[in-house]
Amino acid sequence: MTPFERARLEEARRRYNLETLFAADPPDWPVVIARERWPAGLADALRRAELLGDGEPVEHPVCGRCWRHCHVDARAVEHADGRSFLVGACDEGEVAGLLTFEHADRATVRVHPRMLAHRIADGLGLVGVIEEVLAGRVWRLGHRALAGARRVVFLARGEFDPAAVDEAGAVVLTPDPGAWAAVDAVVLPLRTVVDIHEAFAVDVDGLEAALGRKRRKAVEPIRVAMGLDWRRVTVRVVDDDAIEIVAPGVRERRTFAEVGLGDARKGDREPTRAWAFLLLLARNGGSLQTGDAGSGEDERKAAQALREAMRRLFAPELVGNPVMPWTAAEGWRAGFHLVDGRPPR
Ligand SMILES: [Zn+2]
Repeated sequence: MTPFERARLEEARRRYNLETLFAADPPDWPVVIARERWPAGLADALRRAELLGDGEPVEHPVCGRCWRHCHVDARAVEHADGRSFLVGACDEGEVAGLLTFEHADRATVRVHPRMLAHRIADGLGLVGVIEEVLAGRVWRLGHRALAGARRVVFLARGEFDPAAVDEAGAVVLTPDPGAWAAVDAVVLPLRTVVDIHEAFAVDVDGLEAALGRKRRKAVEPIRVAMGLDWRRVTVRVVDDDAIEIVAPGVRERRTFAEVGLGDARKGDREPTRAWAFLLLLARNGGSLQTGDAGSGEDERKAAQALREAMRRLFAPELVGNPVMPWTAAEGWRAGFHLVDGRPPR
């Protein structure tokens, strides 16, 4: 596998995974799935675990070329050799000319949520009957002793519903912890216990460790359209403590704590080094030529922490890289448009 192919596979794994699939509410299925095909390896692993099946084909194929992923009102056209295609135009008008689809482009896949609930309950060794508390959205998986206490474990997706989880000390596993942050329970990303990328596996130790750790406050995610690219995001540094984030349909001002870059050891009152790194990048017009220092451990850690925080900030996750890997030619560079709005020094 070439480095380029490996990078593409990594990108695909971040975008197409069990959490993404499970997180999408039924009305979104076609958008999530038909838009582009899942990398074969990933779908295969989930299919083997009987977690993935075929959904209803969508009526309109999904554009995939415009950022809104419009549903193209396509009609069937027969080719001279007898093969049939679907032809239509981008509804957003962003793509010039006609788009051609194969009939297979209407195919969808979907996760079997009940099977997922059973697999997690089995894998965690939970006791009790699995109960669908809210149709298609919240499951009570059972209970067991975890990190020194009896814990009831829930699986949840979609919008927060406080009535669905009403047991003290409950654990909520969800692809969208930000949405469930207000519930009176320990909210953990699904990936804490489930390998979302490769073969399906449940990790009890991961859950124990997460429960034992002091949890960070969850960051309220910024909601954007599926498939949005980092290159369409602008971050403007307002002052030393805040940024303004602008993306299609989004304009939000956030402090360092509100983007997950507060120092938890200091109660989020002070920013982390990753925040300082962001301000430094902004001061330098979005990139940072550091020569040999580019391999410096502190800088690499700050870049990685910034990258992770920026990725966590958006739901669903954006396409591309918020902080490009260091290169000798460019040093560090933001993958989004970064502007320094502070007065010049
Ligand atoms: Zn379109």
